[in-house]
Amino acid sequence: MRIFVLLLLAGILPGILMRHAIIVNYEDRAVSQRIATVTNQLRILSNHLVSNKYFTYYRSNEQQHVSSREVINAELEMLSNLYEGRVMIIDGNFKVIKDTYGLSEGKTMISEEVIKCFQGSNTSHYDPEHGYIEMTVPISDTTLNAVDDSVIYGVMLTSISNDSILATMEVLNRQSMTIEILMIMVIFGVALVFSGLLIRPFDKVTKAVNEVKAGYSNEIISVPDYAETVHIVDAFNELLRRMKVLDDSRTDFVANVSHELKTPMTSIKVLADSLIAQGDAPAELYKEFMEDIVSEIDRENKIITDLLALVKMDKKVQDMNIVSISINDLTELILKRLRPIARKKDVEIVFESLRQITAEVDEVKMTLIITNLVENAIKYNREHGLVKVQLDADHQNFILKVNDSGIGIPEEELPNIYERFYRVDKSHSREIGGTGLGLSIAKNAVIMHRGTIDVKSVIDEGTEFTVTIPLNFRAAE
Ligand code: ADP
Repeated sequence: MRIFVLLLLAGILPGILMRHAIIVNYEDRAVSQRIATVTNQLRILSNHLVSNKYFTYYRSNEQQHVSSREVINAELEMLSNLYEGRVMIIDGNFKVIKDTYGLSEGKTMISEEVIKCFQGSNTSHYDPEHGYIEMTVPISDTTLNAVDDSVIYGVMLTSISNDSILATMEVLNRQSMTIEILMIMVIFGVALVFSGLLIRPFDKVTKAVNEVKAGYSNEIISVPDYAETVHIVDAFNELLRRMKVLDDSRTDFVANVSHELKTPMTSIKVLADSLIAQGDAPAELYKEFMEDIVSEIDRENKIITDLLALVKMDKKVQDMNIVSISINDLTELILKRLRPIARKKDVEIVFESLRQITAEVDEVKMTLIITNLVENAIKYNREHGLVKVQLDADHQNFILKVNDSGIGIPEEELPNIYERFYRVDKSHSREIGGTGLGLSIAKNAVIMHRGTIDVKSVIDEGTEFTVTIPLNFRAAE
């Protein structure tokens, strides 16, 4: 509809403007032409008046003067008839000595135009409202050479009707109106057809998008009609692709979660079933199986805790609880908590604090980052191994390095380690205990702080994780 109206206006408006311009232009030209012609006639007449000494003898009754006056009067009549107007002759005393209408003879006529004309210039004035053109021409002796010396005997004041101009304008108007109406009809049709044609590709896009929305189709769409539709469709296809990736990863995630949660359950059930089946099992066996069951329950618990931590990471930045804290103290505290676990594996933890750092962070999330990295460094270490934690800062960021002397990660596995439930060596990792969620949680927490996480690793030599986080969270926003 909008395009249709636009096309219609674009077609019609220039036509209307042109019609007006033509008519106004015609009126101007016709009036000035009429003024020029009449002024010319008046000038010829004024020469006659002068050469016949009309002013000197206009009262004389001598036969000779009377007849020459009659000739001139007849000429004046003719002029006024020809142009449907009125001619008045005004003498030097502003007295009307001849009026072709015979109404004002003997009266005095002082007007701006007449006064101007006595100073030697023609005047003309068009009054479209009352429909007349008024002109004055000085009656002077042009036989005298110098203009300044010329004597102005009187003024010829003429007003003629513009009826004939109006009549021509009327005809012009009527004709152009007819053309315009025809044009509007044609443009209406063209606009109707074109707006339909222009819109069709967009309708196609809408239809295709609706099909995807309704779930009938999941395929990428193609409407190659215009560059514009190609852009829209490309953007939409990109969105569709991204949605598919998200959908796939969600399906994978649900499948993984179910699998991970089921594994300890299956173990527990197998252990319990075998106890029931045995009936009179010795107390030691019960104890041993119960211990296994407890460790499976612990594992289940850890998976659920990690999952909850991960889900919390998906929340928005607004949900971050940003506080200004000492990163050194926080790291110290976490390491103190982890040292007993390290001691069990005979792993030594060294903390190297290069400077005092106070940063704006979410304490819980920051704890998750440090804990997960150091826990991994202990878990995937060798006997009597070493874990080195280093804290440093530049003027914008603080840098946390967790370095271990462990088993290392194969180069080709490095891109996958942050994926949820991903483990490099499934059987070994299971033995070590872990959910495959730790690094995924750590990476999400780092990203929420607008930081980065990098890893370098050499097989059988060790791994180093480097986390860089802005000191000022709000400035980084
Ligand atoms: P998990 O709970 O299995 O430790 P993570 O997400 O923390 O899960 O780690 C993913 C995998 O990356 C681990 O299973 C392990 O194979 C590998 N990995 C992580 N940290 C280290 C490390 N410091 N040294 C060697 N391998 C590591």
